[in-house]
Order: sequence, then structure tokens, then C-alpha cells
Amino acid sequence: MRKKLIVGNWKMNGSLAANAALLESLRQGLAGDCKAGVAVAVPAAYLAQAQAELAGSVIAVAAQDVSQHEAGAYTGELSAAMLQDFGVRYTLVGHSERRQYHGETDAVVALKALAALAKGITPIVCVGETLAEREAGQTEQVVKRQLAAVIQQVGHCVSELVVAYEPVWAIGTGKTASPEQAQAVHAVLRAQLAAASEQAGQMVLLYGGSMNAGNAAQLLAQADIDGGLVGGASLKAADFLSIIAAAQ
Ligand code: PEP
Repeated sequence: MRKKLIVGNWKMNGSLAANAALLESLRQGLAGDCKAGVAVAVPAAYLAQAQAELAGSVIAVAAQDVSQHEAGAYTGELSAAMLQDFGVRYTLVGHSERRQYHGETDAVVALKALAALAKGITPIVCVGETLAEREAGQTEQVVKRQLAAVIQQVGHCVSELVVAYEPVWAIGTGKTASPEQAQAVHAVLRAQLAAASEQAGQMVLLYGGSMNAGNAAQLLAQADIDGGLVGGASLKAADFLSIIAAAQ
């Protein structure tokens, strides 16, 4: 049985004061027995704060992005080694907002996953189709292409990845993929992973796209959905805690 994992993606939201309050509420809310894994992907500027405030808690620190480069003349970027300095356990790679606004290609995303793995940080590889691609019947082809680039790059480390299926049309829109739609894509992804790794059955596959307290339980009940990547609803402690409760 795979342990569920719920990851909050704060995107570019927060302040020292707001983060302190949110993290404290999460710590308190998860002080008892928590059977699911939990992480929060905070803006890079707040990694030190998250590391300090989450010390000794069950909540892991995650980053939203990582550079594919090790060090050097890459202004504005953060290396995996730097993330490691702040106790980062997971990093998103290839979030659709990075692909869309920063031109990240499948090849770049694959290199980022490799860079994270090299420092012992688990990449959460985000894949997902746009609405136009879904309507054109290309969903499977798109997510398989995105994942194949990473599988090819990381070789025998495939089983160390977490994969997040995030249909672009469901992110921040309030439109969620139905549990059946999400499960169908997750099954495709698991089969693709199974062709690359004997451990595919133990790998964690997240769903992301307007997951909330109301729809989490049904999504998380699907055979191949092992957790959630949660944007908007991770900014409110009560909502995020409800989603975590649905995963237990
Ligand atoms: C995300 O940012 O990965 C995400 C899924 O956002 P939201 O939950 O707001 O759709």
C-alpha cells in the first residue's frame, strides 16, 4: 500500500507574517498521528523561514523550482545544492506555470529532475495537457511525451521520482478533472513508469488541479492517485488540513 502524499504549492504568495501563522496552524493541526506525508512548496525567499518553523514537524519543506545547472553565471537561479542547504526534501519541476511563462521545455525539465536527484532531493515532475490538447484527443500523447523526457534522462533513478498529473485547464480555474478522468491518465502514467522501472507499483503519483476540501476524498480514492498537489487550497490552513485528513 502506497503512503499518500499531499503537497501544498504556495506559488508566489505569502509574507513572513502570513507564513508564520499558516505554518503554525498546520503544525498544530498535524500534531497528532499523521499517516500521510505532507510538504509545502514555499517561495524561495521563504525557504529559511519554512526550514526553521517546520523543524521537528511532520511537514517537509519543498521548493517550487530548481536550476538544471550546478553553479555559476545563472543570475536569479537556485541550485539543488542551495536547496539542500535549507533542508529541502522535494522540488517541483516542470510546473505548467514554469513551462508556460518561462519557456521550460521537456528537456530542461528533465535536466532539473536530474539535478535535484543528484543532491538527494525528490523531484515532483509535473505533467499535464492544455484544454486545446485535451479537446484534440492528445492528452495521453502529451503527458507521455513530457514524462518520457524525464525517464530517459534519469535512467535507473526513475523510481525515485514523484509524478504529478496536473491538467493545465484545471489549475487555478476551479475546474477539477473528474475522478475517472484523472484516474485514466494516472493509469497511463503508471504503465509508462512500469515499462521503465520494476518499482512503478510503489511510486507516488499525485493529482493537481483545483483539488479542494470538497473533492479530495473522491480523487484520492482512485486506484492510482496517491496524493495531491494543491495550489489555492493550500493557502488556507483549514482547507489544507481537510485535504490531508481525506488522505488518511
Ligand atoms: C498547482 O499550483 O499546482 C495547482 C494545482 O493549483 P490549484 O490547486 O490552485 O489549481
